Amino acid sequence: MKVLVTGGCGFIGSAVCRHLVLDLGHSVVNIDKMTYAASEGSTAMLAGHPNYRFHRLDIAEREAVAAIMASEAVDAVMHLAAESHVDRSIDAPAAFVETNIVGSFALLQAARAYHASLPEPRRSAFRFHHVSTDEVYGEMPLEGGRFSEEHPFRPSSPYAASKAAADHLAMAWHHTYGLPVVLSHGSNTYGPWQFPEKLIALMILNGLEGRRLPVYGTGENVRDWLHVEDHARALACVLSRGRPGQAYNIGGGNERSNLEVVETIADVLDEMRPSPLGPRRLLITFVGDRPGHDLRYAVDAGKAESELGWRAQQDFNTGLRGTIAWYLDNEAWWRPLRGRGEA
Ligand code: NAD
Repeated sequence: MKVLVTGGCGFIGSAVCRHLVLDLGHSVVNIDKMTYAASEGSTAMLAGHPNYRFHRLDIAEREAVAAIMASEAVDAVMHLAAESHVDRSIDAPAAFVETNIVGSFALLQAARAYHASLPEPRRSAFRFHHVSTDEVYGEMPLEGGRFSEEHPFRPSSPYAASKAAADHLAMAWHHTYGLPVVLSHGSNTYGPWQFPEKLIALMILNGLEGRRLPVYGTGENVRDWLHVEDHARALACVLSRGRPGQAYNIGGGNERSNLEVVETIADVLDEMRPSPLGPRRLLITFVGDRPGHDLRYAVDAGKAESELGWRAQQDFNTGLRGTIAWYLDNEAWWRPLRGRGEA
């Protein structure tokens, strides 16, 4: 299978490219605009591979994207390109509307025309996978249940609203134009190669450098943590086995409060790289809460497990220790990214 991956130089996209090419033997054509969040290092092991090609391109450039779909004769699109950081969406939402909504619209239009031009049986086998987030469902109370795929969207942040908008567009392109769309709603993802603005990567590096560990509000907000390799495997399953017109929740089954996560990182860092300044828990600083901060996200991944045969394999404690060890070993990768993209 030849897959057009958008955003393949980002955190999850690069894991998807590596998984498709190196584990599954598929071919990948990666389109990435190379924003501040992109990294060449995360796909460096694929450079020169006969099954991998890269194009630096904005998904909003519809004609150029359409030309690549046709010349590469792709069998599927996995759409991960996005502005992805909630805090940035609060400070500067325009880029989120541009890429996540308008860019997704351009990509859907290109895919729709390309799909219509395909002969059978390639036409029926074609898939457009929009990679989305559990944040589209909004907040679940601490003692509430977990979101099923039937739950209505109630996005709180500009980021979540832009992803929900793109989900609606993708499903409308399925219902109206017959584009074979599959959706996935992944939970908070962590692991190697994550840009150091996201909670876990930021706390590891701040803790390592003896900087303060800022925690929003009281740190009670709960997220369900999913290892990036589990997420990448799930996305490949959604693409190959998901039914067109269906959405699949992807969760790690690892609910933790932000404070628990930060405390665990501090403790593991103390053990792996003791600091002369004392226990890193002392670096934890509570800061004013993020506006509209959802208290809890939790998805029920039962549908992906029963229909797709996928199950998260990484236990959070093991996955987190592995991630911390990876950042300790890969300073040459993250050092140049510290502060990149900040005004
Ligand atoms: P990321 O910010 O690490 O990477 C995004 C990539 O998209 C970057 O390489 C960037 O250069 C590229 N990009 C941005 N705008 C582009 C454009 N206009 N054209 C082409 N490329 C563009 O994001 P991530 O964390 O890897 O997330 C990937 C996808 O998964 C996103 O759609 C996100 O909404 C979704 N998701 C993320 C998480 C998470 O916890 N990180 C969880 C669930 C779903």
